[in-house]
Amino acid sequence: MPSDNPGKLVVISGPAGAGKSTVLREVFHHCRRPLSFSVSATTRPPRPGELNGRDYHFLTPAEFQKRRAEGDFLECFEVFGRGHWYGTLWSEVTPSLEAGKWVVLEVDVDGAMAVLERFPQAITIFVRPRSIDVLRKRLEARGTEAAAEIERRLEVARQEMTFADRYQHQVINDDVQQAVNRICQILEADGTNALPAHQ
Ligand code: 5GP
Repeated sequence: MPSDNPGKLVVISGPAGAGKSTVLREVFHHCRRPLSFSVSATTRPPRPGELNGRDYHFLTPAEFQKRRAEGDFLECFEVFGRGHWYGTLWSEVTPSLEAGKWVVLEVDVDGAMAVLERFPQAITIFVRPRSIDVLRKRLEARGTEAAAEIERRLEVARQEMTFADRYQHQVINDDVQQAVNRICQILEADGTNALPAHQ
């Protein structure tokens, strides 16, 4: 049964390496909103330690396209610079919204724009490094990627940063705790609900 108090969509994007996952984990612990994380579907293979249904719904390309054709996705894209499909399943969103949850979608910039078209009242937050140079230093310090991979990631990040102004909020992730506090502030300050555009 739909609740009288439908929840809200919260869309979070930002370049890889900006520390989004760490920040989001902390937000879930600290924010005083009934947050629920939407587990995306993807065609990329699981990384070590990732679990099907917890980190992603891992689908074959054929399964993904079948579900796409059946209209199972709120949005899906072949994510720029990744070479794999990613998408938000309606089944991750609708039941939680109807239960009054605040559904957090961690999607790329194309996904975010597509969600906004259907849910103009979604809260959109772009988590970003202070600059591309800061991101470069962070990736270099991590030491897990080869130089060519760092350049590739920075190029993707540059493209993504051109979308930053289209988000309602930008949060600079210089310091994890400050970024977490800022996102919690944004969520706790928002009082409107999230009915789709056509309702
Ligand atoms: P990763 O493969 O590192 O887990 O994620 C790669 C990128 O895919 C991230 O930038 C993330 O935001 C994006 N992504 C993850 N899930 C979705 C989704 O459901 N839809 C879209 N459009 N992008 C997604």
